[in-house]
Amino acid sequence: MSRVIVIGGGPAGMMAALAAAEKGHSVLLLEKNEKLGKKLYITGKGRCNVTNACEKDKFFENIVSNPKFLYSAFYDCDNMRLMEMIESAGCPLKVERGERVFPVSDHASDITAALQRLLKAEDVEIRLHTTVQDVIVHEGQVTGVCLADGSVLEAEAVVTATGGLSYQTTGSTGDGYRMAQMSGHTVKECVPALVPMEIEEDWCRAMQGLSLKNVALTMTCGKKQIYQGFGEMLFTHFGVSGPLVLSASSYYGRCSKKEKVRLTIDLKPALTEEQLDKRLLRDFEENRNRQIKNVLGRLYPAKMVPVMITVSGLNGEQKVNEVTRQQRHCLVETTKCLPMQVKGLRGFDEAVITQGGVSVKEINPSTMESKQVKGLYFAGEVLDLDAMTGGFNLQIAWSTGHLAGASIP
Ligand SMILES: Cc1cc2nc3c(=O)[nH]c(=O)nc-3n(C[C@H](O)[C@H](O)[C@H](O)COP(=O)(O)OP(=O)(O)OC[C@H]3O[C@@H](n4cnc5c(N)ncnc54)[C@H](O)[C@@H]3O)c2cc1C
Repeated sequence: MSRVIVIGGGPAGMMAALAAAEKGHSVLLLEKNEKLGKKLYITGKGRCNVTNACEKDKFFENIVSNPKFLYSAFYDCDNMRLMEMIESAGCPLKVERGERVFPVSDHASDITAALQRLLKAEDVEIRLHTTVQDVIVHEGQVTGVCLADGSVLEAEAVVTATGGLSYQTTGSTGDGYRMAQMSGHTVKECVPALVPMEIEEDWCRAMQGLSLKNVALTMTCGKKQIYQGFGEMLFTHFGVSGPLVLSASSYYGRCSKKEKVRLTIDLKPALTEEQLDKRLLRDFEENRNRQIKNVLGRLYPAKMVPVMITVSGLNGEQKVNEVTRQQRHCLVETTKCLPMQVKGLRGFDEAVITQGGVSVKEINPSTMESKQVKGLYFAGEVLDLDAMTGGFNLQIAWSTGHLAGASIP
C-alpha cells in the first residue's frame, strides 16, 4: 500500500482517487475550493453531459489533440464502464440526441454526489480549502507536495489533476502547468478552445442575437480549408458563437499566423446555386413591383435582410424588376458563401476547454506516469488533450484519471 496524493477534486482527480483507493492505496484528495467538482456543476448548462455513448471509433474521431495517446486510457475505463460506475452509485443516466449522456435528474450535482458516495465507500480522505503550491521531487522521484501554507505532505505517488485555464472562478487557474514546468516538464502553449470568435465585419454585430439553424460553416486559412461543419450558430455583439463556431475554434490553432482566417456560411446548404437561383426567380416573379428589401424576408431572417443586401452590393430600395441578372447572381453567391474575417478567439473566461498543456510525449500513455519523474502522474485537462463538445472532454478526464489511479503500483 502506498500513500497517494491527488491534487484537484475535479472529475479527473475524483476518478484517480477512486481508482487508487480501489487498488488498496491510502488516498488523500486535495482540493482548493470549498467543494469538489465546482466546474462539473456548470457543465452541460448545469445538466452535465457526462460522456457520449458512441462507439470507440467515433470517440477517437471527436478527440482534437493527441487521440492516439488516449487509447490505453479509454480501453481501461471507456464510456460504458463509466456509465455503469455512475449508475451503480445511484445516479441513473439517459442518452439524448447525438448520444450525449446526462443524469436522468438533469442535475450535474447528482454526478458529483454519486462520485462522493464512491469515494466515501473507498475511504478516500478529502481535504477542501487546501491549495497545493508545489510537487516535491527528489532525485527523479516524487516525495510529496508542499501546500500554500508552507506545510509538507509526504507521498509515494502524486496525481496532478488541476484542470486547465478556462472559467478560472471554478478553481482551474493553471497551477498544474506551473508545477509541471517546475518538475522539468514541457507545457505546450495553452490557448482557449470551444470558444466564440471575434469578427472584423461590423455587419456581424448588426445581427446580434440572431441564431441560424441548418447552416454549413467553413473555416479557411489562406486557401486551405481547416474546418467544415453543419448545424447551428449565433451572432453576438463581438462576432459569432454557437455550436458550429465553438467546434471550428478548436482548429483555429492549426491556422498559420501569417494568413488571414476566414469563416464562410452557406445559408442554404440543401440547395445548389442553380436551385437557389430558381427559387429567387420565383420569388421575384411574384413580387415584381415591390422593393427588394421587402421581398427577401421570405428567404432570410428579418435581421439578415439588410446585411444580405449590403454584402451582395444591392440597393434595398430597388424594385425587384430592376434587379439585374448579375445582381441576382451576387445574391446567390453571398447566400452560399457569406464571408467573414476572424479577428481572433474570445478569452479563457468564455472557453469550454484549454488546448495545450503538459506534453503527452513526456507521459507514459499506458499509465499516465511522467517519464521524467517517478511516481508523478497527470490526468485530465492539465494534459495536452482536448475534444469536441458532446461529453468527450469529460470522458478524457474520467479515462485518464482512472488509468492514473489504477496504475499506481
Ligand atoms: C461552461 C463549461 C461547460 C462544460 N460542459 C461540459 C460538458 O457538458 N461535457 C463535457 O464533456 N465537458 C464539459 N466541459 C469541460 C469539462 O468541464 C472539463 O473537461 C473537465 O472539468 C476537466 O476535468 P479536470 O478534472 O481535468 O479539471 P477541472 O474540472 O478543472 O478540475 C480541476 C480541479 O483542481 C482544483 N485545483 C486546481 N489547482 C489546484 C491546486 N493548486 N491545489 C488544489 N486544487 C487545485 C480546481 O479547484 C478544480 O476543482 C465544460 C466546461 C465548461 C467551462
